[in-house]
Amino acid sequence: MRIGAKVISYDVIYHIRDAAKSNDQQLLAGADEAECLCMAILSEVTYQHETLQLLIDGQWVRSRSDKYLPVMNPATGTLMSRVPFALKEEADSAVASSHRAFEKWREVPLPERVQYLFRMKQVLEEHGEELARINTQNHGKTIAESRGDVRRTVENVEAAISAAYTLMKGEHLDQVAKGIDEETIKEPLGVFAIVCPFNFPLMVPFWFVPFALVLGCTVVVKPSEVTPLPMTFAAELLQRELKLPPGLLNIVHGSKEVVESLIAHPLVKGVTFVGSTPVGRHVYKLAGEYGKRSIVQAGAKNSLVVMPDAHMPSTIESCVSAFFGNAGQRCLAGANLIVVEAIHKEAREKLTKRSEAIRLGCGLDESAEMGPLVSENARKRVLQYIDKGQFEGAKIVLDGRKARVSGCERGYFLGPTIFDDVSVDMTIAKDEIFGPVASIIEVSNLDEAIDLINKGTDYGNASSIFTQNGRDAREFRRRVQAGNIGINVGVVAPMAFFPFGGMRESFFGVSHGQIDSVDFFTDRKIVISKWDHD
Ligand code: NAD
Repeated sequence: MRIGAKVISYDVIYHIRDAAKSNDQQLLAGADEAECLCMAILSEVTYQHETLQLLIDGQWVRSRSDKYLPVMNPATGTLMSRVPFALKEEADSAVASSHRAFEKWREVPLPERVQYLFRMKQVLEEHGEELARINTQNHGKTIAESRGDVRRTVENVEAAISAAYTLMKGEHLDQVAKGIDEETIKEPLGVFAIVCPFNFPLMVPFWFVPFALVLGCTVVVKPSEVTPLPMTFAAELLQRELKLPPGLLNIVHGSKEVVESLIAHPLVKGVTFVGSTPVGRHVYKLAGEYGKRSIVQAGAKNSLVVMPDAHMPSTIESCVSAFFGNAGQRCLAGANLIVVEAIHKEAREKLTKRSEAIRLGCGLDESAEMGPLVSENARKRVLQYIDKGQFEGAKIVLDGRKARVSGCERGYFLGPTIFDDVSVDMTIAKDEIFGPVASIIEVSNLDEAIDLINKGTDYGNASSIFTQNGRDAREFRRRVQAGNIGINVGVVAPMAFFPFGGMRESFFGVSHGQIDSVDFFTDRKIVISKWDHD
């Protein structure tokens, strides 16, 4: 492996890593800075990490494209891999392979398909720690957060298994007229494109992949070009250990061009997209033009409302996790903290005090509570919003811009940042920032808070209230236009056996991700039979 100008053998890297694990200072003393960097970014090395390949028809193939993007470790700012932007012909051959696989896979009895998923769960669990480490190295989030992602990934496989039998069952009614019976049967539709965002590189594809496969469909997954490693590594594991029939799960890398090729391909029946609203809107329109089904889960600007009767210690902990977990890069992240005036000062002071204490660090460091942003560009974008907030008159009460992590000076870190005195017309109160920035907005009462959520932004992904008053909670649940509602819960992440909500500019389509996607991947036939000739 090449770090800067220095080439280091994997033996040396593993040697240093083992020394680090056992905390052997004598062995570690010999390692120079470049070797330490290697140690930080490498623990699971596969050939895939050199330059990512495409998985087409059961084979890993080098893309013929000459366009690549570097894949970075955001904690160290070092190169991990390169991701190709696959060519249209490569996307086409992935679809053709998935279609061939579909013709056979749909004939495999459901109980046998379910067995594949049982083994998929086992493989993901057995390699859970490796997957979590790769997730952390490529995305930057803490290892605890990555372990949570892996757990939720596995839960989606479990939910697909448990759903398969009941949700594939049709309906039958005898004697709808004399001698006539009527029934519905469900059938898998075919090949689906699964387009993924950077922030949950493993979990989001699994909101759809296990459901599609168990129902008899096949998939071409397009991971995020920023964080392609976790899903590529998972596909490699499944390929190797599960021996999935070729074409069931293909992987193509790239961005706009490859996504558009997949949607336009006549053999692709539909697309699932999770990502930002502008791109989501484009995907939704394009899918419509080609007559394809789509699930589009898009951007967010989530508000958390603190009422004067809220239980403060648990509210603050929930807010810290919502605003700063995953470095604020969750579609369920808190963005605006709406406080009713009587509690404003106390909420601001307690949130600021607790947030100041958050320990930033390289995600593989078990004691780190918050990792870096995913890329230098993401960091720059958030910094621009912070400047804008100051320019528009908001008061900065916690400034994360000076945060540094010793030993990771080249990482894309940004500490928790809190603005007070934010008004609803400010850019930071409206736009999705997607970073560790909280904007405190004061209101007089619950009605004003609900109005602000419904009219202040166009998004409707998630919203939470913190209160001990059941009536207020009920009003909130009924009137707020958001797909995921939290009552004394800050990060409203639905379990795999519930749909993942979303409304307004945060969602386009009918079926949602997770269990809801069952209807999306299947179609119904209505059969009317008459065997009585009288
Ligand atoms: P993004 O929109 O930049 O990219 C998402 C995917 O679309 C990537 O695979 C990318 O390669 C592809 N893409 C980019 N430009 C394209 C184009 N012009 N045409 C077709 N495809 C294109 O999103 P991101 O930055 O990777 O992810 C962050 C966003 O995802 C945030 O807005 C976040 O709120 C959202 N998100 C939403 C949910 C949800 O469930 N609502 C969940 C996770 C993330």
